Amino acid sequence: MSQDNLMEKIVSLCKRRGFVFQSSEIYGGLSSVWDYGPLGAELKRNVKNAWWKSVVHSRDDVVGLDCGILMHPDAWKASGHVEGFSDILVDCKSCKKRFRKDHVGEKCPECGAIDFTDGRAFNLMMKTYLGAAEDSSSLSYLRPETAQGIFVNFSNVVDTTRKRLPFGIAQIGKSFRNEITPGNFIFRTREFEQMEIEYFTKPEEADESHKQWIEERFAWYVDLGIKKESLRLRKHASDELAHYAKGCTDIEYQFPFGWSELEGIANRTDFDLKQHSKASGKDLQYQDNLTNTKFFPYIIEPSGGVDRATLAFLVDAYCEEEVRGSTRVVLKFSPELAPIKVAVLPLLKKNSEIVSTAKAIKKDLSKCFMSVYDDTASIGKLYRRQDEVGTFFCVTVDVDSLSDKKVTVRDRDTMAQERISVDSLKEYLSNKLLNH
Ligand code: ATP
Repeated sequence: MSQDNLMEKIVSLCKRRGFVFQSSEIYGGLSSVWDYGPLGAELKRNVKNAWWKSVVHSRDDVVGLDCGILMHPDAWKASGHVEGFSDILVDCKSCKKRFRKDHVGEKCPECGAIDFTDGRAFNLMMKTYLGAAEDSSSLSYLRPETAQGIFVNFSNVVDTTRKRLPFGIAQIGKSFRNEITPGNFIFRTREFEQMEIEYFTKPEEADESHKQWIEERFAWYVDLGIKKESLRLRKHASDELAHYAKGCTDIEYQFPFGWSELEGIANRTDFDLKQHSKASGKDLQYQDNLTNTKFFPYIIEPSGGVDRATLAFLVDAYCEEEVRGSTRVVLKFSPELAPIKVAVLPLLKKNSEIVSTAKAIKKDLSKCFMSVYDDTASIGKLYRRQDEVGTFFCVTVDVDSLSDKKVTVRDRDTMAQERISVDSLKEYLSNKLLNH
């Protein structure tokens, strides 16, 4: 399967099975904005929950936060975004297409010409106006990153949680960037979701913490099923770094369109808290009671994209297998990410007793797992449909189930079938999902 072909297949499966739809499709679509359909919403939610579980619930040193998308405009001046959150833009003089300078090589990616305009800075922040008047006093911005909401709440979190260094604050939320060249499906869009941690450390402990976070975040993708050989770390060269950053390493995934960034893990030094202290007049230094000193902590920032991670999980899970002369498409998601854990299927939909038993089993399983009931096709077709969206188990109710109180459980990956008693079904499925 060629890599172009793979991307086409994934985009088409996403549309056909309700993972991702183009925004405002009935109006011709809005370029670079995508809507998550019923299964995509489940998948994306699972990605976010897995992240939150890993970086907040499983740790004693990280707490969560959920800030507004809109912030005081002065915060964006202090952070440097109003002045400098720009990409350098060039136009191809031949086809007039516009590109990010760091994304074009020698030749125009569109027409192959080699004549470009001089680069000019283009600010990526989306503007909006708060309140009834549309003038400079009401000008505000949709946040281009979730991080700033964390920095401005640093003292609030320290005061309310009594956390001592090192500790982190995590947030998931929408961000907006007026990207010059969005594309590659949900990889680069103008509205997207980020998962960011700001981890505050003593300056002398920042390098070690940076190293640990790079390892931990890399392991997260592998634990959730991404093949290790499709991931790599890329350390930024010094001329790539933001002026305040001491170091940054990206986690990249080998997408069908090439190695691309999933997440960046940066050492932001003490720049952010210093800037917001200066601009707001509020002292955001940390008071160390043991040494009776005050200082600005360093910040390690693992910053990932929910949509990019979701796309990587989709690409990595996609498999085609030959089964008895036909091709079976399977999304081999890990149990945590699979949008549907169990599908309950009646073998004969005309038998009302089978149908009501299957529906009752589905209702009971729904207390523990995301489960669905489906009787809209023959059993063979139903299995294939569930494989194609990555459903972990199919549970089939047949005539014998009515007397022996057992059902057939089919494993997505091996297609092996086992008879399991209805009484122990939940326990059986839980064990399998946990120990996968
Ligand atoms: P790129 O170089 O690809 O534009 P970036 O280095 O500017 O990305 P960051 O500012 O470090 O990205 O943002 C952190 C994360 O947010 C990225 O690793 C990515 O996963 C996600 N992200 C950033 N921009 C977008 C976008 N336009 N669409 C989807 N996700 C994005």
